Amino acid sequence: MGRHIGIVGAGIAGLHLALYLQKHGVDATIITDRPPEEYRDLRLLNTVAHHHVTIAREDYLGVNHWTDPKDHYYYHDHVFNFPQPLSFRGDFSKASRAVDYRLYLPALMQDFMKRGGKIEYNRIEERDIAPLVARFDLLVVSTGKGPLGQLFTYRPEHSPYQQPQRRLCVGLYTGVRQPDPMNVTLSVSPGHGEMIVIPTVTFGGIANALLMENVPGGDMEELATLSYEDNPKHFLQVLLGKLEKHHPTTYDRIDTLRFDLAQPQDLLQGGVVPTVRNTMVEFDDGKCAIALGDVHAIVDPMMGQGANVASYAAFVLGEEIVNADALDARLCEKIDLKRQDRVLAASRWTNVMLQPPTEALGMLIGAMSQNPALANEFTENFNYPDRQWDRISTPQRIRAWIERMSAPSEPVRAIA
Ligand SMILES: Cc1cc2nc3c(=O)[nH]c(=O)nc-3n(C[C@H](O)[C@H](O)[C@H](O)COP(=O)(O)OP(=O)(O)OC[C@H]3O[C@@H](n4cnc5c(N)ncnc54)[C@H](O)[C@@H]3O)c2cc1C
Repeated sequence: MGRHIGIVGAGIAGLHLALYLQKHGVDATIITDRPPEEYRDLRLLNTVAHHHVTIAREDYLGVNHWTDPKDHYYYHDHVFNFPQPLSFRGDFSKASRAVDYRLYLPALMQDFMKRGGKIEYNRIEERDIAPLVARFDLLVVSTGKGPLGQLFTYRPEHSPYQQPQRRLCVGLYTGVRQPDPMNVTLSVSPGHGEMIVIPTVTFGGIANALLMENVPGGDMEELATLSYEDNPKHFLQVLLGKLEKHHPTTYDRIDTLRFDLAQPQDLLQGGVVPTVRNTMVEFDDGKCAIALGDVHAIVDPMMGQGANVASYAAFVLGEEIVNADALDARLCEKIDLKRQDRVLAASRWTNVMLQPPTEALGMLIGAMSQNPALANEFTENFNYPDRQWDRISTPQRIRAWIERMSAPSEPVRAIA
């Protein structure tokens, strides 16, 4: 059986798959639109935190170049700016870390090429897909949220929204203090949105991503369109005013004299329509194209899941391809069944969190503020969205989880 895999796109999905296949001696070619040298000057792409399950995959692939414990963060601080503010901490069992993808992706492209991997540079259009399917034994489409995703049909039952649910304003900033060891802060301003503060390894060392998830119609929304380029001072003034009002504990960490974008291009504004698609297209000769990463399921960035599940799914594809007797529709079906619990859970969990909290979720927030073990498990489950969904998908499950975590533990008995 031929085993030459074509991978369109060199995001985390395409790269983790290509490196996995390379490690296992399977011939993979990446076709992507941008060489590594072009990443340095790009506008901020995103602000991605990798949780420890993803870092373990990087270790496995031999591409973890960011191992300094000082560059990692160890817990979440949850802050709810209710009339009576509520805050609590949740610890991870192992650290997470965020690296600017303008550093991360070209580094992994270089790793792949240094080990003999082939990357072709070409912007692929829909009409190029059939010839590519003919050229390879299996074609993986991992081009992110661009138009090529439309090759794969939409799954309305998992795509409840037609519009972005948050208007994003995301930047990398200097002048925001981090505790030692570092954390991620998730701050909620009810009715106006969330802000996630993520310490991020970028070109000049650590800067803090302020990922503002602004509710349409809320007081923070204008930040999604306010221009930094036209008047940086005005932008920063407006931003500081909103932070003081809506996210005061983060505002208190800011040295206003040093507060600015780390570089003028370190700002991203826009929105994401959460979408799940079918994963396979079969062509006349029985050859297939399969979707991976954001092409398959794109989630709002609030819960930090997109890249982590894309990496997970890349490993599922990798394992199945390495062990396959045939690279056909049945293989794609198996891959789909194997990855879908975690991929769909990330999507469902995130979609629920985009809505005002239900009574049961409100109860969970209150319980977490009183019960560190519960808060730690909620935090650790950022690694395992499927486990999170097991716990929070219905009010009954939420109640059962709280009860289980609140029950006094069995006393340890000496063995006679
Ligand atoms: C602000 C923000 C914050 C985020 N935070 C997190 C987080 O904390 N944790 C997390 O897990 N996820 C996070 N995400 C989501 C994460 O960024 C994405 O889920 C992930 O990067 C998707 O990877 P991908 O490989 O599927 O696609 P992409 O990273 O989009 O890669 C697509 C690749 O295909 C190439 N390409 C595109 N079109 C073509 C074409 N026509 N022809 C050839 N090549 C093409 C691109 O150049 C690129 O190499 C965040 C997203 C945003 C926007």
